[in-house]
Amino acid sequence: MSFAADILAGKSAIVTGGATGIGAFIVRKLGSLGAQVGIVSRKEENLQRAVVAFKADDGIEVNYRVGDVRDPELISRAIASLAEQQGGMDYLICNAAGNFICPTEQLSANGWKTVIDIDLNGTFHCCQAALPFLKQAKAGGRIVSISTTGANFGWPGAVHAGAAKAGIQNLMQSLSSEWGKYGVRANWISPGPIKGTEGVDRLIIQQGLAERSLERIALGTFGEGDDIANAVIFLCADTGKYISGAELVVDGGSQWHRR
Ligand code: NAP
Repeated sequence: MSFAADILAGKSAIVTGGATGIGAFIVRKLGSLGAQVGIVSRKEENLQRAVVAFKADDGIEVNYRVGDVRDPELISRAIASLAEQQGGMDYLICNAAGNFICPTEQLSANGWKTVIDIDLNGTFHCCQAALPFLKQAKAGGRIVSISTTGANFGWPGAVHAGAAKAGIQNLMQSLSSEWGKYGVRANWISPGPIKGTEGVDRLIIQQGLAERSLERIALGTFGEGDDIANAVIFLCADTGKYISGAELVVDGGSQWHRR
């Protein structure tokens, strides 16, 4: 799929966890369509390496700040500082997340709390920090959270992430309702497994689940990072102006409820 080359000219986007995996695909797509993009995550070396790669591969200048989404004050400062540098913020893409496989009966309280803290609390902190800027977005601010199909059917072995992502989906619905008066749209994308990512490598391939996972996908293949990036563009550009509180499933027709 291709969009007009300047479809996002003059727009400003912030992508959490934008240095790696799906986030990096989203950054490349936003930047190549004309948006200014800022990324934020914990590890400065990841951020620096990504900024160099975005410039070398795609000719995109990407701004970055170090920040942990679990810390409301720090992440708020990082987001505000990026938005100020970029002359405002039109799009917030909540992509940062943590996850690991663990049977629920062995999951420690700390393991549960850590994932809920990054995924659910982190998304809440970023949305609150972004709101003053999104309110000013001329064509209406957009929040797009990256969820997962695992939130819709339960996620045995990753209950912390499944519950956190289900919470994010409900958060997006509530924000769409509360912040519609500010012109802010809040939606979420639920990807199925996306090849070449940390998520698929650690949670599926290393667990020996690749064949079983592929059998459950109607289109018979894992998705690509660009499939998610294209969905983000659809929701952020003018094409998404009347969509709020909605889920966009991008999973090749997966049948995850068939266990
Ligand atoms: P990834 O490469 O591990 O990306 C996660 C990003 O989040 C990293 O860049 C990481 O950067 C950042 N991050 C983690 N903890 C953070 C924190 N406390 N504060 C700030 N940033 C933090 O994973 P991915 O597989 O591309 O996944 C990206 C998103 O897609 C996630 O929301 C995931 O749940 C979702 N998803 C992925 C798949 C898949 O197949 N991969 C499927 C469904 C949904 P630092 O380490 O620098 O902090």
